[in-house]
Amino acid sequence: MAVYAAHLTRTLQGKPTVFQVTAQEALGATVKPALRKVVEFLAATYPNKCGWCLHWYDEVYLLFDCCLQYYYIKHYAASFAESFYGLIRVPTSSSSEFSNGQQLPVYLERASLALLVLVPYLKDRLEAIVERWREADEDGRLGKSRSDTARRAAIRVYAVAHTVWCCARLVQLARYAAGSAPAHAPALAALRLALKDAPPREQGEHTWGDLLRTVATGQLGSAVVTFPMLGGLALRCVEYGAFGVQFLRWWDAQASPTQTLPAPPPPARDERALRWKNKCPLCLQSWKIPTVLPVSGYIFCYICISRHVRAHSACPVTRCPTTEHSLVRLYID
Ligand SMILES: [Zn+2]
Repeated sequence: MAVYAAHLTRTLQGKPTVFQVTAQEALGATVKPALRKVVEFLAATYPNKCGWCLHWYDEVYLLFDCCLQYYYIKHYAASFAESFYGLIRVPTSSSSEFSNGQQLPVYLERASLALLVLVPYLKDRLEAIVERWREADEDGRLGKSRSDTARRAAIRVYAVAHTVWCCARLVQLARYAAGSAPAHAPALAALRLALKDAPPREQGEHTWGDLLRTVATGQLGSAVVTFPMLGGLALRCVEYGAFGVQFLRWWDAQASPTQTLPAPPPPARDERALRWKNKCPLCLQSWKIPTVLPVSGYIFCYICISRHVRAHSACPVTRCPTTEHSLVRLYID
């Protein structure tokens, strides 16, 4: 009877809209870069304690994502982002339809976890390697050796594979929107899974009032065990925290210093600069091979300034640190 009821619930569940499924995909894709911002902040603030997190960020996130997605797949038969949008994974093939209530069969749980966690990790690693090769190719650092030729070919193969994959996703989404495919993504279709609207979550018989009474009587340990809504509260915090990090990301993009801070006014010329106008500040003669020091903006003779910077590594007028490589030759009459 329970199995029959579960079947009824499933068949009665509505089909989520294209906006719902794309919104949950967008949320899933935002968590990793948003958490990276938090880790970057921690690594900058505590370089000794948290510096390694940034270096191993992909692996740290893989571990975190694995635990998070495993919990959601196991308890809600959905990924974290799918559960956030009130969706649930349901098998589309009739053979696995009557499994065990709302849970997915174990092989589908494992396959879902691999597709949610492992595949994006491997894709990111591959993308980073190909990007490195592409930069090397653009800078002309790839030669004519066999390995370099193979790298160039791999860059092309990756570009084609990426385009094919994007097209396949688009076609699958269009078929889903048109109602001719049960799943919105090729990965879900391969697993014969589809997303449906989740049934409302069951409410326990314990109320927040009972919880407060238990805590007030000092039985904190038993309160944590007896009241499952504490776990639910923690999960809600994680879920709304995801929106929080999305907001932080948006804020970070808005508050980039080039957009918000106006350029400071140039410093006023002092009296000496006016007196020695069109003269080299070092030899006080007219410039020979005029050369500007970008860090301060002063113009010197090339011989004077290159000798001074080699010896002092600083601008002779402003004392701003600089190197010989930053000298710029001016072609003025
Ligand atoms: Zn000079």
